[in-house]
Amino acid sequence: MVNDQKHIDEYFETEEEIEGEGKTPPFQTPKGVHDILPHDHEFHTYIKKIVRHRSRQAGFKRISTPIFEFTEVFKRTIGEATDIVSKEMYTFEDKKGRSLTLKPEGTASICRAYIQHNMKDLPQPVELFYYEPHFRYDRPQAGRYRQFWQYGFEVIGESDPALDVQSILLAYKIFEDLGIAHTLKLQINNIGDLNSRKVYVEALRDYYFGKERYLSEEDKIRLQKNPLRVLDSKYEDTIILNQSAPKFKDFISPESQAFHEEVLEYLTDLGIEYTENNSLVRGLDYYNQTVYEFWDEKKGAQNSVGGGGRYDGLIEMLGGQPTPAIGFAMGIERVIAQMKRHKVRVPSKDDLHVFVAQLGREAKKICIPLINQLRDRGVRSMGALGKGAIKNQLKIADKFKAPYCILIGLTEVRDQTAIIRNMIKGSQRTVKMSEVVDEIIKSVGKENLDFYNPQDPIDL
Ligand code: ATP
Ligand code: MG
Repeated sequence: MVNDQKHIDEYFETEEEIEGEGKTPPFQTPKGVHDILPHDHEFHTYIKKIVRHRSRQAGFKRISTPIFEFTEVFKRTIGEATDIVSKEMYTFEDKKGRSLTLKPEGTASICRAYIQHNMKDLPQPVELFYYEPHFRYDRPQAGRYRQFWQYGFEVIGESDPALDVQSILLAYKIFEDLGIAHTLKLQINNIGDLNSRKVYVEALRDYYFGKERYLSEEDKIRLQKNPLRVLDSKYEDTIILNQSAPKFKDFISPESQAFHEEVLEYLTDLGIEYTENNSLVRGLDYYNQTVYEFWDEKKGAQNSVGGGGRYDGLIEMLGGQPTPAIGFAMGIERVIAQMKRHKVRVPSKDDLHVFVAQLGREAKKICIPLINQLRDRGVRSMGALGKGAIKNQLKIADKFKAPYCILIGLTEVRDQTAIIRNMIKGSQRTVKMSEVVDEIIKSVGKENLDFYNPQDPIDL
């Protein structure tokens, strides 16, 4: 299933299985994955609206790639020595023995799609965004799940510091709209081009030579396979060792240096604060030049809410023509956690307007078409259920937090009337049955009605 099963099992040995004292239902979600319950869907929908709006404003179109791809798409691009490829991919064989992998990230698949659909023939840059689930065999803990959602975008086909800055700005604007920009700080670095990185990697090898005993087993392997990955280590001793390691900025070419300075200058002009972070390399190997992340500085790298970077070599790695590109991705669960931590409220449309309570079969007969009529006129309504006493139905209405209740009993059926009860004030009045819908609309307020017009312009 996963590349290195033995290693993975050791990795999770300490994790306790979720088991109750005989009270747990027989089926639970597997470790690391979650149901998105209605309350969290309010957050998802809110975030989705904001990211769509900001992406659309900037000329982006939406793309969805399949949940699984040929394993090679990820192996070849993300890098053998990265956490993702070495231990986090959900890889399996299909019935014909082909190796497939659930997508651990979005960029490689989008580049595969760019090549497959000849997007180089479209006006460049091609701007695409996505809101999709991703899968990684990560160690389950706060902010780390095995299925998680990402919003991300890619700008493919042009290279210019202005595009790097516009990407960062778009991400920043989204965090602003979400009400969390002030809680995050931009970390930025330039990791140079392929050639200067080769020289730098040699310098890193020299630096760690003779210090291997301070590295974790995992970092020793990283040092062998790709010393840059040691800089991305989350082990405490390695982090300390990394602080004195040679710095990128002393190795990158004058062109990269100039590129970087231009990016920083534009950021300053835009008033976006940043921290120059010389050991930021990101979790994937395909980046070059600009890399960046947004962190809550109180929490550090472990809780990066999102990040991005330039990946000018990626399309070529997948067999396309050399094509410069830059992208960004943010983790929706981490965004939601950050919003909750900072008490950002999400306006909900889910609240009911009216609960309809009735007594007796004759009343129920009136209530079903009445509810239908209310809904058609934009009133969120439910009711006409059960046979309980009106008093019990009022209790239910209260639990559903409906601000109004329509009551129809034997008397009302006979008199062709209905009672409208204001659940907040506890007051009530009798109105003619023919007027009850208009009366309710007056109380709810026309501006609060829930209409959907299929002719509205499409929101992707
Ligand atoms: P980290 O170093 O924290 O593992 P990463 O380098 O693997 O992050 P990316 O691959 O760039 O992260 O993913 C972009 C964003 O997706 C991250 O900033 C984070 O918000 C989110 N993310 C990554 N892995 C997970 C996960 N297992 N569960 C939830 N969110 C995640
Ligand atoms: Mg990771």
